[in-house]
Amino acid sequence: MGSLDLTGRVALVTGATSGIGAATAALLAQRGSRVLVAGRDSARGESVVAGIRAGGGWADFVAADLREAQSVRQMARRALDLGGGRVDILVNNAGIYPFALTEKAPESEVDAIYALNMKAPFHLVAELAPTMAERGGGAIVNVSTIAAAFGVAGLGLYGSSKAAVELLTKTWAAEYGPRGVRVNAVRPGPVRTEGTAGMEGYLEALAAQAPAGRPAEPEEIAEAIAYLASDAASFVHGVLLPVDGRPHSRLLTRAACRPTA
Ligand code: NAP
Repeated sequence: MGSLDLTGRVALVTGATSGIGAATAALLAQRGSRVLVAGRDSARGESVVAGIRAGGGWADFVAADLREAQSVRQMARRALDLGGGRVDILVNNAGIYPFALTEKAPESEVDAIYALNMKAPFHLVAELAPTMAERGGGAIVNVSTIAAAFGVAGLGLYGSSKAAVELLTKTWAAEYGPRGVRVNAVRPGPVRTEGTAGMEGYLEALAAQAPAGRPAEPEEIAEAIAYLASDAASFVHGVLLPVDGRPHSRLLTRAACRPTA
């Protein structure tokens, strides 16, 4: 039977200097994986690395601005070097979720959201999935959002960028699954992270009527990501796993006057 253990794997986690990504990096390391912590902020990155090393784990920081395709592809090659020629697990987590009504969104924001949320995962998968397939297998987990599934005023760019990633998740499962690479996604609801600091009232309101009744902690999303990355999910391909406390969908559209992830 499959196992949650990740001993011997090399994992690349984008956006691992903060929030869900940092919690995921820590958990994958705890399960035995060597972890490459990706982000731009070297101070935060080195702090995550130090925390993992202090717990007896193996981690390195890889710096890159993932809005640039060339920088994304360079980072993939650097990750392969640091991983001794292998990346077995890719977690496409880095993302931004600015709020903007359509007529007010500047062109720079359209480009930035799509570059980071959609194009960076695309280029990372293009670089790394074939290397996983050549080595006999791997696992890719994309981090989406419940906002990918609804029309939410002010979140069109964000939601649509993640909806693209959800479709790509299924495409990549079809392309790489037969070659031993499982591709899945998690779809978190509201989560308390550095990125949502300042939106606490909104997160609480969004979560209030759901069975869970509260926003998630990053570690709760990390658990789902680590499961999908592990052999325990060996027969799971192309799913969009909700990890959302099940907020009522109407809450999203009614509450759309405030920013949220
Ligand atoms: P966060 O705390 O704001 O962290 C975002 C991460 O992305 C940071 O590590 C940041 O690292 C990295 N990042 C941002 N811009 C980047 C760039 N240009 N190049 C490279 N890395 C960049 O985010 P979070 O709340 O944990 O969210 C993580 C993911 O979960 C996102 O994809 C988000 O859409 C999704 N999500 C979040 C929630 C929520 O409620 N929090 C809900 C559903 C889905 P640096 O600053 O070091 O670059």
